[in-house]
Amino acid sequence: MAEQKEAIEGNETKGLNFVEEYVVADLKAGKNGGRLSTRFPPEPNGYLHIGHAKAICMDFGVAEKFGGTCNLRFDDTNPVKEDVEYVDSIREDIHWLGFDWGDREYYASDYFPQLFDLAVRMIKEGKAYVDDQSSEEIARQKGNPTEPGEESPYRNRTPEENLDLFMRMNAGEFDEGSRVLRAKIDMASPNMHFRDPIMYRIIKTPHHRTGTTWKVYPMYDFAHGQSDYFEGVTHSICTLEFVVHRPLYEYFVKELADESYCPRQIEFNRLNLTYTVMSKRKLLQLVKEGLVAGWDDPRMPTISGMRRRGYTPRSIRNFIDTIGYTKYEALNSISLLEHAVRDDLNRTATRVMAVINPLKVVITNYPEDKVETVTMENNPEDPESGTHEMPFCREIFIERDDFMENPPKKFFRLAPGSEVRLKGAYIIKCDEVVKDADGNIIELHCSYAPDTLSGMPGASRKVKGTLHWVSARHAIDGEARLYDRLFDVENPAAEADRDFREMLNPDSLRVVNGIKLEPFIMEHATPGEKFQFQRIGYFTPDYDSTPEHPVFNRTIALKDTWEKVQKKA
Ligand code: ATP
Ligand code: MG
Repeated sequence: MAEQKEAIEGNETKGLNFVEEYVVADLKAGKNGGRLSTRFPPEPNGYLHIGHAKAICMDFGVAEKFGGTCNLRFDDTNPVKEDVEYVDSIREDIHWLGFDWGDREYYASDYFPQLFDLAVRMIKEGKAYVDDQSSEEIARQKGNPTEPGEESPYRNRTPEENLDLFMRMNAGEFDEGSRVLRAKIDMASPNMHFRDPIMYRIIKTPHHRTGTTWKVYPMYDFAHGQSDYFEGVTHSICTLEFVVHRPLYEYFVKELADESYCPRQIEFNRLNLTYTVMSKRKLLQLVKEGLVAGWDDPRMPTISGMRRRGYTPRSIRNFIDTIGYTKYEALNSISLLEHAVRDDLNRTATRVMAVINPLKVVITNYPEDKVETVTMENNPEDPESGTHEMPFCREIFIERDDFMENPPKKFFRLAPGSEVRLKGAYIIKCDEVVKDADGNIIELHCSYAPDTLSGMPGASRKVKGTLHWVSARHAIDGEARLYDRLFDVENPAAEADRDFREMLNPDSLRVVNGIKLEPFIMEHATPGEKFQFQRIGYFTPDYDSTPEHPVFNRTIALKDTWEKVQKKA
């Protein structure tokens, strides 16, 4: 208790979001015996995405802050869509984000017996009935917010008849869709969710945990609040679309709760991001139709996709902190997320040299067999990160874009007769452009100024451009996968009359083979390692990478060039 008081005081001075304010008020009032228990309730019907990360940071974060606990609860009430593959990925992704649920891993299916018992009790008390109508018919009778609905002809069955039918529904006697169990509340309620909501439907697909034990499955509204109650959850934090469900949540929970303990639902705004989609249904379609390489395709807004792309848990959490939690729907710019990624990688990624589109340079006045090593800083942002050695010799590669035969005025890179510094090494001058029969540039002949290496008299000589480079003799060939935004439309979800697949960015992946890597990269190219390819961007080895065929994903370019490109187009 003393610890809780300290946690509250400490965090209050730092400022609380509105959900935390509710939680703190309840704790101070001693509600639920001063306990704090939250849950993260994913349905295992897909991989987690960045929107879920926002919910995870809230559910686990608030518990962590105020000395409570957070359960992981799989909301597995629809066996048709659910799979253990998803359960495993969800566990992995939450851990990767840096949260842990200890031994509190629960499943809504664990509560099927209690939920069934409660349904039976409600039937006996005349609070629920079996309706033989189709779901279409039931929907037709719902009415609309200003007009009352129509009562089902089956609404006034006796409890005995309802009980008999419900038992037979669960015994598998009836077809899917032929009957449902409904709560008998009020067909004229201004809240549409109160118009005799469905509690149970018949599903005959086996469940991934309970097999063929059940033939009836509870609906979200009947399962969720009750599961919260069975688990002792005090604050059931969810997203705004559930505001309209809250009265029903409270109605069902009241069947179980009393003054000593009652869970409370609190809603915050969903995360929506530009240039992507967040609907699991659409993400599943992208995967199933092969429009991306899988749930963990680095272009996907999934946690696993972002991990593969090279995003860090810290950058995702920092981004979520930045956007915060409110009660209003919003569309957040993906640039903010990308900024958080750059910011984190800038502090942690190892600086190396790689040439994506190589052009050979022969330094004609440098001895054939000579090899020197130059020393490179691993990360100027991190004094602890040390240095590494890089070989230099007569033939090197530079970026093709860093040379122009007829440069405009302000081109400070290499051109005929001009000088540049090779980063960490000598100043060179371009003497000759060598072309093939078709006039394509195949290599450059340059000369170097031998006294311009670090520690030599000409070391401080200033030239306008500095280029990255790789020794041709030592370079290792690799593949780069250059990723960009998945959609080229700012808010695909808002374009209701267009197929979302038409809005995919055709240039979201460009594969480049024959990139040239300095040898040091390959000594450290273990999965998860983060590099800054100098002057190009942040890269990470892909899962497909092997020593024979190194593959690097571009996490993100060094600068945000998207705005400019969009304007041009
Ligand atoms: P479904 O349509 O399948 O229900 P869902 O995205 O709501 O999709 P759930 O597995 O039910 O998926 O979500 C688990 C939790 O994550 C819920 O509490 C939900 O409110 C939250 N959540 C889902 N999407 C977002 C989002 N974009 N932003 C914030 N929280 C989200
Ligand atoms: Mg949901």
